[in-house]
Amino acid sequence: MEQVRKWFLENRRVFPWREEKNPYAVLVSEIMLQQTRAIVVVPYFEKWMKKFPNLEALSRASEEEVIKLWEGLGYYSRARNLLALSKLLVHQNFGNIPQSYEELLRLKGIGHYTAGAIVSFGYGKKEAALDGNVIRVITRLVAFEKQANKEIKTLRKIVYDFLPDVEPEIVMEGLIELGATICMKKPLCQKCPLKTDCLAFKNGNTEKFPLLPKKKKITKLFRFVGCITFQNEYLVKLPEKGKIMSSLYEFPYIEAEEDFIFTKFQKKIENQLGLRLKLISPLKKEKHHFTRYQADLFPFHFEAIQKKEITGCVWVSKNTLFELAFSAGHRRIKNKIDF
Ligand code: SF4
Repeated sequence: MEQVRKWFLENRRVFPWREEKNPYAVLVSEIMLQQTRAIVVVPYFEKWMKKFPNLEALSRASEEEVIKLWEGLGYYSRARNLLALSKLLVHQNFGNIPQSYEELLRLKGIGHYTAGAIVSFGYGKKEAALDGNVIRVITRLVAFEKQANKEIKTLRKIVYDFLPDVEPEIVMEGLIELGATICMKKPLCQKCPLKTDCLAFKNGNTEKFPLLPKKKKITKLFRFVGCITFQNEYLVKLPEKGKIMSSLYEFPYIEAEEDFIFTKFQKKIENQLGLRLKLISPLKKEKHHFTRYQADLFPFHFEAIQKKEITGCVWVSKNTLFELAFSAGHRRIKNKIDF
């Protein structure tokens, strides 16, 4: 693996979390990087580290503060888990992040990859950190014929055995970088430092690996969204605890069928809220992807005929509206509001 080390030191991309190597920075960056591209994470990581430079500072934050800082990154349970973890470690572990893979794995929100990454990059110890990038490189390198997601233990062992005893974290990070920039879905084998050893490359079947189960089906949703105003106030739906988008605000909406009829929607949302509405104008349609759903959002601007208190909703000023953390699709609607 000397060739990976050499290649990485010459070709590594610069990211703020690579400059600030400590277990807390690794923990934050790795949780942010789950499901999100590095380039998107950079400004979030920088803002986060400025506001919560260590576990102690984070443990004193409110859920609202962390969700607001996370707004736009998606998969908000990551932010809530991070906050809960900081409180737990500050109160039960003297503010220290565990140094062993097994201990880390017992913590909520930390999977095998993040645990490996903290031990490897945060503590500089010999440990395998298997993300999708490493799995791609390794399964191709050894032409791994079994289903990768069912063989994590075996793959971790293969990676571990490849790591040197001295500065193993450099090779570990090199493998991740290799998967992210060279051994991609369509690999650039001619540029790869491992091409003379790679079995899949020799056999001409690189794209066969890794062997993975079929992807889950995406469920389509259609939602009518009411951007309802009364004089200078806006009606927003309060976050519902325990739901996928909990901690995030949204505009009131109702589920619909693909071939919806607008008049029915207006009646339905009026009945749901117990509010009479006057249509002002339709707004631009937005798309919102989350977990295994893809929602088409059809927003409409309505004026309420009268103001009344509505359970589960709250009337807010425009300033407050823009301070609240919204789910991605509803945030895009909010950002286009010019009324
Ligand atoms: S030679 Fe190609 S398939 Fe093999 S590890 Fe390198 S980029 Fe991936």
